[in-house]
Amino acid sequence: MIPESFKYMRADDMEHVLSLLSNSSEDIQILAGCHSLLPLLKMRMGMADTVLDVQNIPDLKGIQIETSHIRIGAMTTHAELTEHAELNREWPIFAQTGIQIADAQVRNHGTIGGSVCLADPSSDWPVILCLLNAELLLKSQTGERIVPFDEFVLGAMDCDLQEFEILTEIRIPRNSLTCRSSYQKFRHPASGYAVASAAGYALYDGNNLVEKRLAIGGTAEKPYQAGFDAADVCSDAEVLSDHFAPSAYRASLANTMAKRARRACLNPI
Ligand SMILES: Cc1cc2nc3c(=O)[nH]c(=O)nc-3n(C[C@H](O)[C@H](O)[C@H](O)COP(=O)(O)OP(=O)(O)OC[C@H]3O[C@@H](n4cnc5c(N)ncnc54)[C@H](O)[C@@H]3O)c2cc1C
Repeated sequence: MIPESFKYMRADDMEHVLSLLSNSSEDIQILAGCHSLLPLLKMRMGMADTVLDVQNIPDLKGIQIETSHIRIGAMTTHAELTEHAELNREWPIFAQTGIQIADAQVRNHGTIGGSVCLADPSSDWPVILCLLNAELLLKSQTGERIVPFDEFVLGAMDCDLQEFEILTEIRIPRNSLTCRSSYQKFRHPASGYAVASAAGYALYDGNNLVEKRLAIGGTAEKPYQAGFDAADVCSDAEVLSDHFAPSAYRASLANTMAKRARRACLNPI
């Protein structure tokens, strides 16, 4: 498959990116890990006049533990999130989830920023960011804004990203308690993407359960939090339906994934 022709540009620092995004009259698409954008262009399901490669920009990479939050650069790869010891000491769900994304090649190139901006309901990181009430930092030449994950993702393949903006980082709260978490994913047998998924955590202070939370993915147009002990985690959701998983089957899978996640979080430490 051959995409329509487009211009390729590479930026080496953030100033250059922001100036290109704000001064161009063309449709510019950010190129991150390239694992979704290029297939979409090749299948002609996406269009771009210009593709702007941001792979060389150090400001967009890496994970830093700050006092008030954990900063994850938008260009941080799935593999880096999976393997980062300090991040996973506080939130082991990153390792539990990352290892379930595709294969080593995809994990070494695909980025969390690309996954969030694509807003594919069956992707894995969005449900984790929903679970953790993540915030997203978006920058443009005229300033920056911080948007809660739930407000950023508007629906399937749709997010609140302006043409002149780039997602630069994701902010996750710090956690000083003992965390038991679980990511349960029912994979599509052909693609490996989630047909339904559930992510949960329980925080313990010694033997005392302090907080528990559950989020559901793959099931509706965007991930959502559900009551941890809910009898039906889809009761308020408009459940997606397709030829592989009609809505009743998908809802049943989501409830099974939730039950497994719940059980794993509540097992004695
Ligand atoms: C074989 C295969 C299997 C896969 N399996 C899974 C799976 O099991 N689970 C899963 O979750 N994903 C899976 N993926 C998707 C993969 O993880 C992608 O890498 C990811 O969804 C997109 O990230 P990317 O860095 O490749 O983004 P790109 O493809 O480069 O970009 C995706 C979109 O996001 C935009 N974008 C990217 N970064 C930014 C930014 N910083 N600011 C603004 N816009 C931005 C781009 O313009 C584009 O529209 C798979 C992909 C492949 C090829």
